[in-house]
Amino acid sequence: MMPALSDTYGRPLRNLRISVTDRCNLRCSYCMPEQDYVWLPHDQALRFEEIRALLDVFVTLGVDKVRLTGGEPLVRRDLPVLVGLIAGQPALRDIALTTNGVLLERFVEPLFDAGLHRITVSLDTLRRDRFRELARRDELDTVLAGIAAAARAGAARSRRGLKLDSVVLRGVNDDEMFDLLAYARGVGAELRFIEYMDVGGATQWSPERVVPRAEMLERLAARLGPIEALPAEGSAPAARFRLPDGQVFGIVSSTTEPFCARCDRARLTADGRLFFCLYGRTGLDLRGPLRAGASPEEIAALIAPAWAARRDRGAEERLRLVDRAPLAPAAELRRDPHLEMHTRGG
Ligand code: SAM
Ligand code: SF4
Ligand code: SF4
Repeated sequence: MMPALSDTYGRPLRNLRISVTDRCNLRCSYCMPEQDYVWLPHDQALRFEEIRALLDVFVTLGVDKVRLTGGEPLVRRDLPVLVGLIAGQPALRDIALTTNGVLLERFVEPLFDAGLHRITVSLDTLRRDRFRELARRDELDTVLAGIAAAARAGAARSRRGLKLDSVVLRGVNDDEMFDLLAYARGVGAELRFIEYMDVGGATQWSPERVVPRAEMLERLAARLGPIEALPAEGSAPAARFRLPDGQVFGIVSSTTEPFCARCDRARLTADGRLFFCLYGRTGLDLRGPLRAGASPEEIAALIAPAWAARRDRGAEERLRLVDRAPLAPAAELRRDPHLEMHTRGG
């Protein structure tokens, strides 16, 4: 085992987000607003055994938490098989999945059976017409059925793992914060409001569309009463709060109050490129060396110095911009799809 790694700001590498596909069965306006996309070629996608082999290297460097994401991870065929392979790595203490929920009802039991610990479902609205407009697919009912199935499966296994993530967009769904809280309480999930981020893919982003954390808290407190701030959960991105009735919720304020100082996350794309920041422009290719026969030690020797040299504080740098606009125009995203949020996994 190598000594624990840390970057130039003393941040360890603990968390690996693995994007298993860049494909998606929704087209959320804040993530995939364009008509056409350039997809990663299928033959470049890491095979499950390759993902496990890379994961084993990351574990030697300090990773003990994994999140599967995408695109939509459940459109990758046989995802429970991958979860089983990952769960076979004994050093992991947390294996989570972020999904849009469309295929969740069918897969939730096999996923838990395979060893998944926790699920986060993205849910921005409870109104069917709005969902159709926001995600450009008529799938609200299937998503809600998926959440219900996840709540049942989680409760049956006495795990308190279900979270719901809602991106709050001014003038689109910011009037639903109360309804979403009530819904989350009903299914026993912890809701997290996410500030709209100016990441790659968010080509329609504008500062006016962002509802800052401070405003969310003000609006919630005005109707529901005083809100108590809770201690942060390790390096988790969400600040957590308690409402007067006891309900706990979170806010991920990447846009207005970023948390780069404690960011211990790396992101592996479906084709094996490693990014150290959501806003990072360049990634480290791991698929090439892996397929060329590099040993685990040789791959570790690529990752370790790159992490040690890491200086990324993308969201903090964006905060200092005077004229803040989308990170990359659509033409640039087409030239380099690795900049897309749906490629690097959010
Ligand atoms: N498809 C899955 C889903 O939607 O849950 C997983 C991948 S998605 C890229 C991961 C997360 O990124 C989702 O919760 C989504 O809401 C969030 N996301 C995408 N674009 C965003 C943006 N511009 N601002 C804030 N969150 C965003
Ligand atoms: Fe929406 Fe997730 Fe698909 Fe992006 S990847 S369009 S956030 S469902
Ligand atoms: Fe981490 Fe980059 Fe996000 Fe900051 S902007 S929290 S460094 S991924």
